[in-house]
Formats: sequence, C-alpha cells, structure tokens
Amino acid sequence: MSSTGDRVRAAVVSVGSELLLGDLTDTNATWLSRRLTEHGVEVVHHLAVGDDVDRLGASVRWLAAEVELIVVGGGLGPTADDVTREALAAAAGRELVHDPYLEEDLVRRFAAMDRRMAPQNLRQAWIPAGARAIPAVGTAPGFHLELPGNPTTHVVAVPGVPWELREQFEAAVVPLLTELTGGGVTLTRVLHVAGRGESDVAEIVEPLVDGSDGTVLSFLARSHEIQVRLTVTAADRAAVLARSEPLVQRVTAALGGSVVGVDDEDLETVVLRLLRERGRTLATAESATAGDIAARLGRVPGASAALLGGAVVYTARAKQEVLGLPASLLSEHGTVSEATTRALALAVRQRFGSDHALAVTGVAGPTAVDGLPVGTAFWALAHPDGEVEVHGRRIPGDRGQVIARLGSAALDLLRLRLAGV
Ligand code: ATP
Repeated sequence: MSSTGDRVRAAVVSVGSELLLGDLTDTNATWLSRRLTEHGVEVVHHLAVGDDVDRLGASVRWLAAEVELIVVGGGLGPTADDVTREALAAAAGRELVHDPYLEEDLVRRFAAMDRRMAPQNLRQAWIPAGARAIPAVGTAPGFHLELPGNPTTHVVAVPGVPWELREQFEAAVVPLLTELTGGGVTLTRVLHVAGRGESDVAEIVEPLVDGSDGTVLSFLARSHEIQVRLTVTAADRAAVLARSEPLVQRVTAALGGSVVGVDDEDLETVVLRLLRERGRTLATAESATAGDIAARLGRVPGASAALLGGAVVYTARAKQEVLGLPASLLSEHGTVSEATTRALALAVRQRFGSDHALAVTGVAGPTAVDGLPVGTAFWALAHPDGEVEVHGRRIPGDRGQVIARLGSAALDLLRLRLAGV
C-alpha cells in the first residue's frame, strides 16, 4: 500500500538517447502506463533519459522520493551505451555483482539460437547487489531492486525491445502490483462518437456522470471521432464491466445514433458487421482519400466478406478512364463537386457489382484547388436500388485530418443507413 493510503504511485522511465533526438516514439511508456493504470496504479511521471549513467542515476534517486514504483525500460543490452545496470546500482549505492545463473542462462539461450555469444554479452549477467533477476525472454535479463525509504521504492528494470518489455512486465511486474495494491483493476470503457463536436458531446454526457462511485469521465477528441471515456476501478474485470454497463447504456441512449460502438467496436468494425448482417457488399471510389477508406476497412479481419474492392481515381483522367466518367461532366462541374461524386458512386457500384458504393472527392490541402478552399469535400453513398445520396461540407484540419475525417464521414453515412438510425 502506498504511504499516503491512496493509490500506489508509479513513474515510467525510458532509457535511450534516440528518444531524446526525436528518432523514436516512446510507445513503451504509453503501453506501460495503460497496463499500470489497469492495475489501479497511478502513474505520475513519464521520463525519457539518454544513455547517460549519471543522469539516469540522478533521475531515479529523484523519482524514488516521489513514487513507490519505478519501471525502467531499456539500456539493458550488452553494449557500452547500455547503462541501466550501472546507473541503478549507483542510485542504490550498491556494487554490481555477477550472477552465475544469469550467465548460464545467457549461454544456453545463445546456444539454442545457434549464435555465438560475444564476450560483451557477459555484461548482462551483472546486476546490482541485492536485486532479484528477471529471466530474459529474448537475450536481456531484467531485475527488481528495492530502494530503502519510507516507503520502499520498487525499481524494476526491463529491456527496451517492446515485446521483451511486455513479456517481462507480465511475468515479473504484474505479481508485484497485486502485492502492492492488494488487487483490483481499473479499466476504461470507450464510447466512439461520430458526427458531433466535443463540447456538444460533453454538454450531454457530463450531467449523466456524477462520479460519486469513483467513475472518472474524460473526453478524447481524435481526427475522426470523439471518445467518451469512463474509467472505473473494481475488484476484477467482470466487476468493472458490471459496474460500468448501466452508465454505458445511459450515455449511449442520450447520444442516440451518434454512438458508433463501445470499446473495440470502432467505425470500420461496425460498418463491416452491419454489412455482413444484412448480406450486403461494398465498393469504393476514392479521390481525396486515395484508398484510405478501403485500407481502413481492410484492416478489420474478415473484411473480404463485404468489401469487394475499390478504385483510387485521383486525377480527372483516372476518373474518366477507370470509371468512365464523361469528360463533359468533369469540365462542367469540376472534379471536386456533388455531381462528380455522385457519378463516381454510381460507376464504381456498377463496375464491382456491389450493393452499396461509397465515393469521395475533396481538397485535402495544403493549398486550394480550382478556387475551392482546403477542406471542401463531398461524399456519396449508392444504395442497392441505385439511388445515390450526396453530402458535402467544409472539413476543418490539416491534410491528414481532412483525409481521416472525410473517410469517416463517408463510412458513418453508410453505418447510419445500414443501422436505420
Ligand atoms: P535493451 O534494454 O534490450 O538493450 P534498448 O533500450 O537498448 O534495449 P535499443 O537496442 O535501443 O533498446 O532498441 C531495441 C529496439 O527496441 C528498437 O527496435 C527500438 O525501436 C525499440 N525500443 C527501444 N526503446 C523503446 C521505447 N521506449 N519505445 C518503443 N520502442 C523502443
């Protein structure tokens, strides 16, 4: 238990100069934070430190006064710039000691991989005196060290290679967390909302969540959706789900059709599920999004049951030659227009023989095209009876956001029509 009687506090330290040079995104810290939070731990610091023994040692000493758990990721390799062992030993005022079992294990692992073990790999068999080794899952062992204090700070060092870090975390840190927190899990239920602004969503949801049962409400605005996040702590996963479900239902009812799905049910997954449930197929004709809509659907397992294919028709010529749009239509209305988007949806539906078709045109930026400002966009949905509906508006954001939001507008239109809401 933490000394304050509140939640156990933790810090995540990522080691590696490439993190500070901007060459590497610290996805380890994100992953560790999520897992620690799920276990009811309050993560209060993320820190990236270069391969510098003094700075790392000083950082850990400073953090030890702030938190009860420090997870250090990286710097456990065999090369001279891997300084986590030395830095943590110095922070604890201890020597590095040789662990013959770790050496044996290293030798065995290299032999099993049929690889020669370089002499510097032996550095990995040294850990701070008094530390408990965490066996390697790749080639780098980790260790767990206790820094005396009131309360004790547990320092766990794991390798930076993401899959090794994750496996060692599950094997060695999760049991420690249960010991420190007395069990309990914290999970965030996520409602994916499309077609509404953040403040509009907040105005509806905030009065529904009073937080007196410990539920924490937050909002995350992403390019293509607003997430309503309900974070709940309870004894186990089933208890979290049971406690949060009535609230999830209430929020869903209040937001009506704009809730796309809950937790793993994102827009693409829901669209494909609805298509499959109704036995319908889809084809796409994409100009401004250049295939992004089809690619988003294609990432969902089983997409081929409903997605027949798509055409990336970026230029006016491609629109004519691939989908047979008349040159006169394009010159009269322009490539980014309601009429062209309608014609693309009809043509691609016919070409693929699909029930539905989505088509998009737009100006993704950064500069205006044919006098149309950045963000001008149209999306069309062709129905099984050959009817086509076209929508258009000015989409805010940079090039990436316009592409993501235009794709989502098209997919959400299909979702709403399939769901009949
Ligand atoms: P080890 O502790 O095993 O020595 P390291 O920290 O020295 O690991 P590197 O050898 O620098 O790690 O990198 C190994 C791989 O791990 C690289 O592919 C790198 O991209 C990835 N990696 C290292 N640290 C992180 C991090 N914080 N977030 C995401 N990936 C990381």
